[in-house]
Amino acid sequence: MIGSKEGNVDTSPGRRQLPTIEILGVKIHAVSMKSAVQVIEDFVEEGVPRLVITADSSGIVLAQSDQHWKDVLNSADLVTPDSNGVVWAARRQGTPLRERVSGVDLLDILCSRAAKKGYRVFLLGAAPGIAEKAAERLQARHPGLNVVGTHHGFFGKEEEAAIVAQIRDLQVDLLFVAMGIPRQEMFIYDHKYEMAAKVAMGVGGSLDVWSGTVKRAPRLVRALKLEWLWRLILNPRKWKKALTLPKFWWLVMTRVRRSPD
Ligand code: UDP
Repeated sequence: MIGSKEGNVDTSPGRRQLPTIEILGVKIHAVSMKSAVQVIEDFVEEGVPRLVITADSSGIVLAQSDQHWKDVLNSADLVTPDSNGVVWAARRQGTPLRERVSGVDLLDILCSRAAKKGYRVFLLGAAPGIAEKAAERLQARHPGLNVVGTHHGFFGKEEEAAIVAQIRDLQVDLLFVAMGIPRQEMFIYDHKYEMAAKVAMGVGGSLDVWSGTVKRAPRLVRALKLEWLWRLILNPRKWKKALTLPKFWWLVMTRVRRSPD
């Protein structure tokens, strides 16, 4: 059960000394957008393959019933708080996080850093044609961005080995995988060392957004923390994921002890 603020901060060396909080048994690094970008740049410089996860409420709900997914989350090199629900739960238990660090924003900022530093970027995921379109638009936004390859995310098991080999041969610095939670993270986890991308990160529906196929919620809707509702209205097939929100709320209300302050 969640205890004091100090009791929740894990600074063990295995977690790169990053302050860590825990929500419903899932470790989340207490990073801001700025510090997350710095940590990822350090990972690229170090050159050891790293897995970065942007954890949202649905991922934490899933971890309650899927031990393997929970283990993958808890072994990731960096886990950022990618939803307002996670930020709310952290505040409620007295281990406040600075801000939401979403995959869609992180992708954009990392591409800007990649353009400056000459990192080799690969975009994997979404429907055929989307990753290419996202690459074009990101390159127009960040001149000099070196996208060394793209591939759609609708492939079968028999195609996996060829995609993994393609990524390995291209010596990728930043690999963004957009196949939805948890498939994208499981794919990275299973092939992390073979692909040898210095940083591999799941980015959910971000390629749809950056390709211009799906519109992001207007600023006001985001400020009102209603981006999930906006996405649900535009894509009613997302109702299954939306249903995890009340579940997350219920779990936090019943299983997470409220901080006295
Ligand atoms: N997707 C994919 N392969 C699949 C299933 C989904 O590449 O087998 C893509 C889908 O086209 C979309 C992304 O994965 O671009 C998932 O987006 P969603 O918004 O559902 O992800 P979330 O951010 O909610 O995890």
